[in-house]
Amino acid sequence: SRSDQIYKNLIEEAKAQGVGDQIQVIKTGCFGFCEQGPIVKVLPEDSFYVQVKPEDAKEIISEHVIKGREVTRLLYNKAPKKPLEEVEDIGFYKKQLRVVLRNCGVIDPENIDDYIANDGYVALEKALFELTPEQIIDEVKASGLRGRGGAGFPTWMKWNFTKQAEGDVKYVVCNADEGDPGAYMDRSTLEGDPHSVLEAMTICGRAIGAHQGFIYIRAEYPLAIHRLEIAMKQAREYGLLGKNILGSGFDYDIEIRLGAGAFVCGEETALLQSIEGHRGMPLPRPPFPAVKGLWGKPTVINNVETWANIPVIIAKGGAEFAKIGTPDSRGTKVFALTGKVKNSGLVEVPMGTTLREIVFDIGGGIANGKKFKAVQTGGPSGGVITEENLDTPIDFGGLQRIGSMMGSGGMIVMDEDDCIVDVAKFYLNFTVDESCGKCFPCRIGGKSLYNILDKITLGNGTPEDIEQLKQISLAMQKGSLCALGQTAPNPVLSTLRYFPEEYEAHIKEKR
Ligand code: SF4
Repeated sequence: SRSDQIYKNLIEEAKAQGVGDQIQVIKTGCFGFCEQGPIVKVLPEDSFYVQVKPEDAKEIISEHVIKGREVTRLLYNKAPKKPLEEVEDIGFYKKQLRVVLRNCGVIDPENIDDYIANDGYVALEKALFELTPEQIIDEVKASGLRGRGGAGFPTWMKWNFTKQAEGDVKYVVCNADEGDPGAYMDRSTLEGDPHSVLEAMTICGRAIGAHQGFIYIRAEYPLAIHRLEIAMKQAREYGLLGKNILGSGFDYDIEIRLGAGAFVCGEETALLQSIEGHRGMPLPRPPFPAVKGLWGKPTVINNVETWANIPVIIAKGGAEFAKIGTPDSRGTKVFALTGKVKNSGLVEVPMGTTLREIVFDIGGGIANGKKFKAVQTGGPSGGVITEENLDTPIDFGGLQRIGSMMGSGGMIVMDEDDCIVDVAKFYLNFTVDESCGKCFPCRIGGKSLYNILDKITLGNGTPEDIEQLKQISLAMQKGSLCALGQTAPNPVLSTLRYFPEEYEAHIKEKR
């Protein structure tokens, strides 16, 4: 990749220009500012170079490193033409608060010492030597953390149900099967800060009495897998995973299981089936995994973003964490901001931030001078948010009230040129493709919805089709076995709610 080439060139240039032993060139995780990548940050000045090309390495070494003069043409904020004091001065970062992504772009994710130097494993030490298992769960409860995978279930409750469930063997699972179109929050977290997830899972193991964890990650994330493997190896060498962790007498280890990229395997019961070696298909609930999960044993499953919050909660205290966000939803949320926005990238904001702030202040507004039309949040399970709701504070409840949902954090911005019926069709196409086919409301309903949308976009729709869309959607919501089928109609229903005239226009076009 271009970043790899820049990395190699910087090392070679530093050697060639005689400063190879005076500087360190380090690969780090995602800075989040995808639109402006690849990014090179030079410390201690905090110079933030964007859109760097491999051939720029020569100038960065000769001008900046050797002569102490910043390469102004590469600085993001070119206007002042002076060193940037802090990265936070850049508009893109101004309203962000990086809790989950605290170490991404800061540490070398392949070096455990870097993680430790940034308060890594402090929380684990506290969980092992200062807190009882009950107190760990109390801290998570006090934090108000809700699961970031989509449903927003209180994390402490899951842990507590599993802790209280009968049985000596219990498991901890990390759901890293991120699959929403446009979403890459979990991938970046794992690539930039793998130890935070390992530390969190170990803390959970101690809290609920589990000695084995599994990370279920899609095989399409090779860098994240590579960095997790390195992190696990280093953690074992440091006595932070394995037998008798830090001399506490507590044994705990983690294994990686690769998924083959089926979206439905992000559903908890399907994921567990897949880990067990079966075909990844959802099971009826109850029983819930907290009571009967992996190999029939009580199991906690949280997604990557949820896990990454845990070390902060335990180290700083749940009450401190709860100061961030809204009463409904504490903490921050990471969004993958993409589509027709000027600054696309990975964005982390306190819960309660409005969509307007994300799209216009952080995202810089709509690209190419076009008009804002809508934002799809929650991926294929979510819905569109329009201009009139741009000032709604974003939290779990707020998004639901306006007909969308948090989902895992995909956020796709549309402009005036986007056809809203096409957008609904795109998502339906995705869910039809990804349906496991086990239950008929989803298997047949999804395909029927797609066919009607296709008919409408081709100019062959009738007014009766609108009613049909609503009826089928209702049947899918009520009758589907898992969340994939239950939420698949959401993009159709929300676009019908906010843009009925576009459906009608397509239908009238033909008549
Ligand atoms: Fe499979 Fe869809 Fe039924 Fe879920 S709702 S079990 S994905 S067919």
